[in-house]
Amino acid sequence: MENKQEIRLADLADQVISAVDRMKDSYGVFAAHPSQQAEISKVRSVLEDLTNRLEDNSPYFHPHYAGQMLKPPHPVAMAAYIATMMINPNNHSIDGGRATTMLEREVVKDLARMFGYPETHLGHLTWSGTTANLEALWVSREINPDLAIAHSEDSHYTHTRMAEVLNIPAISIATDELGRMRLDDLAEKLATGKIGTVVATLGTTGLGAVDPLADIIPLARKYGARVHVDTAYGGFFTLIADQLDEETARHYRAIAQSDSVVVDPHKHGLQPYGCGAVLFNDVSIGRFYKHDSPYTYFASEDLHFGEIQLECSRAGASAAALWATLQVFPLTRDGLGAVLQGGRNAAVQWHKLLSESEVLAPLQVPELDIVAYLPRASKLSSVDAISHAVFEKSFQAPRDQQIHLATYVMKPQGFARRGFDLEQDRDTARIIRSVLMKPEQENWIPDLHSHVETLTKQLIKEYS
Ligand SMILES: *Cc1c(COP(=O)(O)O)cnc(C)c1O
Repeated sequence: MENKQEIRLADLADQVISAVDRMKDSYGVFAAHPSQQAEISKVRSVLEDLTNRLEDNSPYFHPHYAGQMLKPPHPVAMAAYIATMMINPNNHSIDGGRATTMLEREVVKDLARMFGYPETHLGHLTWSGTTANLEALWVSREINPDLAIAHSEDSHYTHTRMAEVLNIPAISIATDELGRMRLDDLAEKLATGKIGTVVATLGTTGLGAVDPLADIIPLARKYGARVHVDTAYGGFFTLIADQLDEETARHYRAIAQSDSVVVDPHKHGLQPYGCGAVLFNDVSIGRFYKHDSPYTYFASEDLHFGEIQLECSRAGASAAALWATLQVFPLTRDGLGAVLQGGRNAAVQWHKLLSESEVLAPLQVPELDIVAYLPRASKLSSVDAISHAVFEKSFQAPRDQQIHLATYVMKPQGFARRGFDLEQDRDTARIIRSVLMKPEQENWIPDLHSHVETLTKQLIKEYS
């Protein structure tokens, strides 16, 4: 039996802070300039104010927080980030961050391998999924100038916004009863010859829907379009794809054939914010990153990340944090995969309880770890009012009894497509949505469900 224990930041902080302090001192101790000195009592009181102000947050870290896509990083990532931040290397260039550039190369290789990309891929970390997607769409525009990008109705709004930034048209493709891109609509729109890139989302931000990538790729190829995969949220589910539905797994395996892919380690990779990633299947796209450097970076081992990215300064600490995390939780089914499996189990379990409930109904079968559900009511206005009231009331309790949920806005056709027969007395209706990102939640579902069910029972009475 392995000797594992719970890891806490407080147990790691001393180790990394004193190691980096020792390293700094070895260059010769020097005093801080008077301009950087301060009264320690003043500093302590400011930090006290800060921690007081931080009370004004939802408890994103707690299993009772089952709302938006939020959770803290792993203590390993925090300790590695703190250690590296004390030096503050900049992964824009090797000179600005030698050690962390090497660490980033290793993690980018690991990510590429996870997706089945070839050994000779191109890629790097980014500050966010937004910049990672922008970069992939920019490369697509350079290859297919003037042609549109096509994305599903349920894709992240960043794609239409980035199309505006890049001054290319964006075409929206209809979704099916689970929120996945519809192939018939895509085929029709590809046939116009106006689409240069299809964006497939594997794990939509709203419902965790997985677009049918394995079928999108041959269709797009037939019309000469590129395929970009946005797995900012869902990318790490690749590790447990064989535990998902067979269809879903087939689409995850197809990522290997895509032209580019984005994943956010700051979502499901246990990292603090400021860590996205973009990967390209073909190194020759490196030609688009024009620079006036005297080196031939793309062929050489001495590649500076600044030469193959849109961003300039970028935290070496992000690369270090991800690297350290992946040494402890490698990109395998039993490593980081086990973390995702917990949330996935929670979603499957909650879906079952919702299906059996007399007052709540699941919106649809969850493909990943996001569940959406609604009160069993007859009109859109009641669904909306009760959902919102459940959301509001669930956290109006002493801290240790609070539940935190999120709402999600649906259009009438979204309900109809999923077989709900609701009187259309409103244009939209809010339902309830829970992103189950924390593996601990697999043990909290009966508790979460009974809280939400009890509240819904009370509110259904009030609103009917
Ligand atoms: C979160 C997300 C984005 C945006 O990424 P940020 O890291 O928030 O900038 C893009 N696409 C999808 C599918 C996402 O879930």
